Amino acid sequence: MPALHEKLIPVFDDVVRRNPGEIEFHQAAREVLESLGPVVAKHPDYIDSQILGRLCEPERQIIFRVPWTDDNGRVQVNRGFRVEFNSALGPFKGGLRFHPSVYLGIVKFLGFEQIFKNSLTGLPIGGGKGGSDFDPKGRSDAEVMRFCQSFMTELYRHIGEYTDVPAGDIGVGGREIGFMFGQYKRITNRYESGVLTGKGLTWGGSQVRTEATGYGTVFFVEQMLAAKGRKLDGMRVVVSGSGNVAIFAAEKVAQLGGTVIAMSDSGGYVVDENGIDLNLVKDIKLNRRARIADYATERVDGARFIDGGSIWDVPCDVALPCATQNELTGADAASLIRNGCVVVAEGANMPCTPEAVRAFEEAGLLFAPGKAANAGGVATSALEMQQNASRDSWNFAYTEERLRIIMKDIHDRCLGTAEEYGAPGNYVAGANIAGFTRVADAMVAFGVV
Ligand code: NDP
Repeated sequence: MPALHEKLIPVFDDVVRRNPGEIEFHQAAREVLESLGPVVAKHPDYIDSQILGRLCEPERQIIFRVPWTDDNGRVQVNRGFRVEFNSALGPFKGGLRFHPSVYLGIVKFLGFEQIFKNSLTGLPIGGGKGGSDFDPKGRSDAEVMRFCQSFMTELYRHIGEYTDVPAGDIGVGGREIGFMFGQYKRITNRYESGVLTGKGLTWGGSQVRTEATGYGTVFFVEQMLAAKGRKLDGMRVVVSGSGNVAIFAAEKVAQLGGTVIAMSDSGGYVVDENGIDLNLVKDIKLNRRARIADYATERVDGARFIDGGSIWDVPCDVALPCATQNELTGADAASLIRNGCVVVAEGANMPCTPEAVRAFEEAGLLFAPGKAANAGGVATSALEMQQNASRDSWNFAYTEERLRIIMKDIHDRCLGTAEEYGAPGNYVAGANIAGFTRVADAMVAFGVV
């Protein structure tokens, strides 16, 4: 593990002591703190005013019971979370995750990452995250609706367009946002569009929000390659996952002339050397909510499904981990490096383990951390809030161009900051430092709050 600056050791020790067992949060906090040595050396006032200590402690953490009735009339009980981490730059902003693995440590890691990501976008949004250990898999639409209504019946009192604005994440897409917005509107008797993002296009949603995280990740990759005088055109790309982020990352890769040869879900991965047929993936995963294994049985010409195993064993030029945290290990990184991969960009949040990130750095690969590469989703959510506030709606081409410019700005900010702090070409250092300093300066201005 790389050493922490001596002034940051007590900060990290406090994170571990105060949040026992929350290993994903420890990992996310350590990763940011490791980058901040040169910053605290230059600005000792950040230590004196406890900016780091305050940043690592959420402003507010909400945990609540979510009771609901399944289709057999049985009462089920889940746990709901919202961690309002930091509002120095704007209302708390970040998605809701519905997955059985969700507990406070996952929500805190995601909320913590969100602070720096949102700051990097340059837009006025603070950081937060939430969710539940509810598993939507195999549940009927009516069950998902009753769960979402119960979840919102508690959450509504904590959120608002100027307070906290949730969106989607794993297990939360357009269907769930619709059920939650409907319940919020009913309880509050207000058509407050700006309280949730990721809404449907006919009721306050923004063009490009569905595509934004995946498209944005690929725009970021385009910039990384351009900085080295290269293009995505003709490259072989592996994308893990087959949900919202993965599907639209794959779509943009294809639009820019790359070939996606493998995708996955939690059951395994498919390889299709002719290029993945995205219409089929969309039909299987988005319409039918079925398994990626079906791709190999439904597509006859040579696609194969590998049950389990690692998708990162498939040789590629570009790797886009777009499924979940810690899905790409040190051994996977070694395999990618051995096979000649040149770029890895995180579409998911923290999908690469610290060992993997270190291996990429040592091998001199271009590596983009999620808080930079996947920031297009939240940035377009902020554009959705902007359209809601002005009761306007923009067309697809204009909104996509805004997203492209935002991703280029984030890219340039990361590279410029890395250079300024003596780590040229290091996107991890650039993203962490640029994200941190904007939030820290606002916190200093506000005094001790
Ligand atoms: P979805 O629920 O739409 O898709 C998640 C995908 O990842 C599915 O293919 C799922 O497979 C797979 N997956 C989930 N858990 C695991 C696991 N434990 N092992 C292997 N595969 C898994 O989620 P999103 O696409 O929205 O989110 C993906 C990632 O991107 C997350 O890390 C999220 O935090 C991040 N992100 C999302 C944003 C957004 O706008 N949606 C914005 C920024 C980041 P299966 O179908 O089998 O469950």
